[in-house]
Amino acid sequence: MKVGVLALQGDVREHISALVACGVYPTPVRRRQELDAVQALVIPGGESTTIAHLAQLFDLMEPVRNRIARGMPVFGSCAGMILLAENILGAKAGQKGFGGLDISVRRNAFGRQVDSFESEIPFADGSRELVRAVFIRAPWVEKIGQGIEVLAEIDSHPVAVRSRSILATSFHPELTGDHRIHSYFIEEVARTALQEVQ
Ligand code: GLN
Repeated sequence: MKVGVLALQGDVREHISALVACGVYPTPVRRRQELDAVQALVIPGGESTTIAHLAQLFDLMEPVRNRIARGMPVFGSCAGMILLAENILGAKAGQKGFGGLDISVRRNAFGRQVDSFESEIPFADGSRELVRAVFIRAPWVEKIGQGIEVLAEIDSHPVAVRSRSILATSFHPELTGDHRIHSYFIEEVARTALQEVQ
């Protein structure tokens, strides 16, 4: 499977290492041709406004949006989750994303005092092991639409959600060395979605 990592800003290298650990050979995506060559895409954590701005500059905004709308499997962590949300609360004026995921997210939802924190949380992939979750000025999901599955939550706020081909986490699995979420994306989300279109 050819997996790309949107390489405009944020923790691109960390996602690449995590994907390599899962046995796929990811390619950085900065240009249209690179996007066209991949079957699935990871949108890293970073700063959603900066990534969106660069996506416009690199003429990737519409192409990524269209691929997602046509069912390309995609995983977004933190800023990536914000960019996948259909509705962004606390958005900067004019802030746009790729959309595709029928959720409302609140940016920087956990507030200043708990700007960044780590927690061990259950993740609904069928394993009983907790997942180590790193939150950095993280969003949470405030509203979910139809067909959205909640995979993890903190204090009743969803922090990991999935629609069929789209996975998003408020936290950064790329920063922990625990590759469970990446492997869930590859094995459960992307492979299933790609088999359905074949
Ligand atoms: N608060 C950031 C944003 O709005 C996301 C933070 C992150 O990705 N660690 O884009």
